[in-house]
Amino acid sequence: MTHAIHARIDGPLVMIGFGSIGRGTLPLIERHIAFDRRRLTVIEPSGDHAAFLAAGGIGHLQLALTPENYASVLRGLFPDGQGFVVNLSVDVSSLAVMALCQELGVQYLDTVIEPWPGFYFGNDVPNAERTNYPLREEMRAFGRSVAGGPTAVSCCGANPGMASWLFKEALLRLAADTGVEAAPVRREDWAQLAMRLGVKGVHVAERDTQVSARPKPQGVFVNTWSVDGLLSEGYQPAELGWGTHERHLPPGGHRFDDGPGHAIWIDRPGADTRVRSWCPGVGPQFGYLITHNEALSIPDYFTVREAGRVIYRPTCHYAYHPCNDAVLSLHETNGAGHLPQEKHILGAEEIVSGGDDLGVLLYGHAKGAMWYGSRLTNAAARSLAPYQNATGLQVTSAVLAAMVWAAENPRAGVVEADEMDHARCLEVQRPYLGSVECHYTDWTPLRHRINRFAELRDVDDPWQFINFLAP
Ligand code: NAD
Repeated sequence: MTHAIHARIDGPLVMIGFGSIGRGTLPLIERHIAFDRRRLTVIEPSGDHAAFLAAGGIGHLQLALTPENYASVLRGLFPDGQGFVVNLSVDVSSLAVMALCQELGVQYLDTVIEPWPGFYFGNDVPNAERTNYPLREEMRAFGRSVAGGPTAVSCCGANPGMASWLFKEALLRLAADTGVEAAPVRREDWAQLAMRLGVKGVHVAERDTQVSARPKPQGVFVNTWSVDGLLSEGYQPAELGWGTHERHLPPGGHRFDDGPGHAIWIDRPGADTRVRSWCPGVGPQFGYLITHNEALSIPDYFTVREAGRVIYRPTCHYAYHPCNDAVLSLHETNGAGHLPQEKHILGAEEIVSGGDDLGVLLYGHAKGAMWYGSRLTNAAARSLAPYQNATGLQVTSAVLAAMVWAAENPRAGVVEADEMDHARCLEVQRPYLGSVECHYTDWTPLRHRINRFAELRDVDDPWQFINFLAP
């Protein structure tokens, strides 16, 4: 089968990290991007895939990047002021590598703002500073200082990443379905559109139904993507973009003292904070309110100001039901009170059924709530691309789309998914997303309760955040 070549990368291509996402991304790059294979290098310390890389004739540096060595290692790989770094690692500072790439004239992409080790666990940093808000503010400030530099895509996988593109497509669909004229071009137009449609908030609503035939062994943390990644973000404080319609700060909720103030954080781990949400297939469900960059970038992008005053902003957060084994793993980890020793990522070949429904749930508008997103089974993912399950393919195809966009827009400086051309990116990504579906529902977080208990509730407005939050 021949595949469309969407873009070309001149100069060296370096992948940092070759875990579940890196391994799945490489074949998509090979299919759709023209590059010089002799100038491809994978930096990966574990050696798990050394034989695979050697068999494919792919350059491999088996080492861990550290604050001490990353500059010299990367400088040596980019002698001629061009090329691309795809950072799909954990424990490597996104900002440090991004800044070096600006200096070297090299394009860059990551899927999360990752700090050097020591930020997530085992320190005395106050909880407000262990959120994503300061990490993102630092990244945005850096971006402003290098405007017009080589394109550096910050936080672009499935979510953060594709979720921002789906949100824009969903807004256009909602506008068409409710007879609202819409032709947004600039950021301000998009924000105005969300306001005119009356969208009070958006969940990034995900249900991962992938299961293996083997029961999860006690004490082993099982997930469908990086266990380290999930643990890191899961034990940051819960955090969400804070909409202008919100009337009640939740228990343990705090505003930030500085910066644009479009978010709040809750003094409890996201991996132990549940919200009521909705996904097709299952309907109403609990999801974990785990902090994510899109919960900050979407409300920031969709803020409407009048004479300098904020008059509209949607609430936004992740509502993540990971695969059942991961739910059980989080339950065990929360109970045990220490991080797991053994970790396992379910590969596409050991998953016997299920898939990943990943979309945006827009609520509070004229039609109540609408879920819009990708429904991809593991079986479909296996038939579409090698080395990845459904969750992985939703991420890796977004990485591919963002790399294509970066190649087509080489001097955009530091950008987030919200600032990219969502239509172009989804055009590249769509063949890998399974069925992209739109579902309206009359569900609200006040419906479907088993008996009544003393919970916080605002019955005058079902779309208040406290109605979503489970105690
Ligand atoms: P993984 O745990 O499977 O792999 C991580 C990789 O990083 C491994 O190859 C590991 O050896 C490598 N690594 C660790 N320390 C390193 C160092 N010091 N230098 C170089 N490499 C190092 O993770 P994954 O599932 O492949 O995820 C990769 C990244 O993508 C994670 O940061 C994760 O949070 C992120 N992610 C983002 C999304 C999204 O939608 N935005 C989705 C999934 C994963």
